[in-house]
Amino acid sequence: MEEVKKAAPELECAHCRTTSELTPVLAYVHQGEEKYVCTHCLPMLIHG
Ligand SMILES: [Zn+2]
Repeated sequence: MEEVKKAAPELECAHCRTTSELTPVLAYVHQGEEKYVCTHCLPMLIHG
């Protein structure tokens, strides 16, 4: 059986450097720049 590898890019949290392999990582745009944040850092982003 052939295994098809998905070419999904590994996203990295801009705050704690965790990757989307370990934690869900979301993309957001701040001051016109696209950045990534994991679900652990997202609350800090919202409240900070
Ligand atoms: Zn993070």
